[in-house]
Amino acid sequence: MGVGSDISTNLNIQTERLEEIIKANPTYIRLSCSGFGSKNYEVTHAGAKWDIFYKNCVELSRLLKKYNPNTGVELYFHVNKANILEYKDIADMARQLGFRAVACFSLLFPHYAMMFDKNIPLPEPAKKAKELMLISIEEVSANARAEHERLCPGRFGFPNINWDLSVLICCNFNQEKLADNFLEADIDKLIKLKNSSELCKECIDHSMHRYYNMPKYASYIRKLLLEKYDMPSYI
Ligand code: SF4
Repeated sequence: MGVGSDISTNLNIQTERLEEIIKANPTYIRLSCSGFGSKNYEVTHAGAKWDIFYKNCVELSRLLKKYNPNTGVELYFHVNKANILEYKDIADMARQLGFRAVACFSLLFPHYAMMFDKNIPLPEPAKKAKELMLISIEEVSANARAEHERLCPGRFGFPNINWDLSVLICCNFNQEKLADNFLEADIDKLIKLKNSSELCKECIDHSMHRYYNMPKYASYIRKLLLEKYDMPSYI
C-alpha cells in the first residue's frame, strides 16, 4: 500500500528468519550498537554479545548481496564518552558490509530521564549510562524544557509494533502497551487511546516529548568527530 516498514533491532538474535525478512524487502533496517568489540558494546548493550552481533551483520550483508532488495541498512552507533574513538571502525565496518553508518548521541532512555526529573533514584545500569553521556542529562533536559511548546515528533511515528506484535504508545517508553496484538487491533481505537494516554500527558508535563532531539545532537556529534577527533569526512 506504499507504506514503508522499518525494523529496528540490536540483531542479537537467532538468524533463522533473517532470510525470510530480507526476502520480504523491508524499507529500512536499523542496527543499533554502542561499541566496536565487546569492551564497550557489552556495557551499554547489556546482555548482548558483540560476537553474535558481528556474525549476524556479516550474514545480513551476505543476504543483501544474494537478494538485492531495496532495503537500506544502517549501523546506528550510540556515541558516548567511552566508545567515541571506536566510531571510525564502525564506519569502516559499515562500508565493508554495504551498510550506512550513523553516529547518534547516546542518552539515557526517556523513561529514566523522567525518573531523574522526578528525583526518583535510578537503577545502577541507568546511572552508568547517565555518566557516559557526552552532554549531561541536566543540559539535555534544559534543552527539552526550552522547546516545551513544540510538538512531539512521536505523534508522527505511530504505531510502534514490538517483535511480539504488542503496540507501544511510542518507542521512547517501552513499558506502556496499547494492545497485545497489532493484527487484532482497531487502528482508530489505538490512535484514540494514544491521544488520551496519561503517559503522554505526564511526558509533556516533564518536557520529555522534546528530550530525544536527535537531529540537534547528531550534528553536534558529527562536528566533534570531525573536528576534535580528526576522523575522515566519509564517516
Ligand atoms: S508525548 Fe511522550 S510518550 Fe507521548 S508520544 Fe510523545 S514522546 Fe511518546
